[in-house]
Amino acid sequence: MIQIAPRARKVRVLATLGPASSSPEMIRKLFMAGADAFRINMSHGGHADKAALVQAIRQIEKELGRVTTILFDLQGPKLRVGTFASGVVQLVKGERFVLDRDPEPGDAVRVNLPHREIYEALQAGTRLLLDDGKLVLRVLSVTAERIETLVEVGGALSNRKGVNVPDVVVPLPALTEKDRADLAFALEQGADWIALSFVQRPEDVAEARRLIGGKAALLAKIEKPAAVERLEGILELADAVMVARGDLGVECPPEKLPPVQKNIIEMARRMGRPVGVATQMIESMILAPTPTRAEVSDVATAIYDGADAVMLSAESAAGSWPEESVAMMDRIAISVEADPSYGARIHFTETRPDATTADALSEAASNIARTVSAAAIICFTMSGSTARRIARERPSVPLLVLTPKLATARRTGLLWGSHAVHTRDVDSFEEMVGKAKRMALRHNIAKAGDRIIVMAGVPFGTPGSTNVLHVVRLTGTELKGRR
Ligand code: PGA
Ligand code: MN
Repeated sequence: MIQIAPRARKVRVLATLGPASSSPEMIRKLFMAGADAFRINMSHGGHADKAALVQAIRQIEKELGRVTTILFDLQGPKLRVGTFASGVVQLVKGERFVLDRDPEPGDAVRVNLPHREIYEALQAGTRLLLDDGKLVLRVLSVTAERIETLVEVGGALSNRKGVNVPDVVVPLPALTEKDRADLAFALEQGADWIALSFVQRPEDVAEARRLIGGKAALLAKIEKPAAVERLEGILELADAVMVARGDLGVECPPEKLPPVQKNIIEMARRMGRPVGVATQMIESMILAPTPTRAEVSDVATAIYDGADAVMLSAESAAGSWPEESVAMMDRIAISVEADPSYGARIHFTETRPDATTADALSEAASNIARTVSAAAIICFTMSGSTARRIARERPSVPLLVLTPKLATARRTGLLWGSHAVHTRDVDSFEEMVGKAKRMALRHNIAKAGDRIIVMAGVPFGTPGSTNVLHVVRLTGTELKGRR
């Protein structure tokens, strides 16, 4: 078993898998190039393809001796028009267009919009954005069967294009029938994270949590203005959030995105929830082997703001340069994190620890690491909550997470600066110190003469009891006589 070293960066890279990256060989390449977690998008394809992806990822995990993270992304209540007899029509500015409940193929004057609930939520004046906001319709009148609109921005409209309704909270459940079936499948496949799309209310997150029943962690995608407004409540119930700029950038004007992104990152970090930034990060790498300067700068901004993870969508899923895209994210992150001002910039966001022993110790560990120039923080954890608390402090040194629970190790793949190892639990203080030292050496995060900080809970093996912080120096002989 090869043990690949911890990444040379703190920010995590999340890569979406798709047609360009579904072979085991390509997934392995993405992993080697720096993908810490893989997103499986339930919006496309069938269950059999997804099962094959999971199998390939778990095989690579085993081969390379390093845990990986799988995030299943549920499509959520995404609205779509039906089909057209001719496949595509042209909508002309100033003309009328009708959306109705009739499942017959559409034409230049009407098309099916199947979602019954949406008819009740619309009023005259509401905007409908079609095909990622490329077309804009304004509602003139609406009944339970029929929406009459005026075309404000025209263009081509083809089969099953998405419909965004930014101005209203859509009275749709957080999970559609399809989502429920996909969720059951994802859990059966051993998903580490479930991403919930088009979250509108904290209640949506609560409902998904109930269905997941602790079998996976839950990430809420923030892609509706309504979700931005109720962010705190959503963050309280979610294990992580994502700034899903694809749909968010359709639902709100593009110039609003940068402040919204910064505020989501800030609030998530304050509340100690991992936060990722997604979509169009290095979009031009779908076609070209290098990104634009502006894209590089965008990725860098997310990293300087202290996001936990940056995500690739079509770049890795459907582009011509999936491996190069991951490698580019890796290089941007390494470069930003090597900037001497990076440490100060990420601490621009003040993250105050909660009033718990584990939080106080996490904050202390980060301070001690700086004061005594320790090489690393090693934490023993069952649920992973201590790892999350330490990561919130954004310590200047690597964080090695040791856990006897494979699921916990895998879930840390979205967590800033942490490298997780699945290992046997310890029963005594001596064993804890010995193991921490050996693991630090074995995983190359510290060397002879370095100080390391060890955190754990006593009594050993009980979750949620982190109460020990121990500083110890490595002699370098700890691995003698051990495998
Ligand atoms: P999607 O989500 O790729 O599933 O649409 C991300 C986004 O909207 O940014
Ligand atoms: Mn989306």
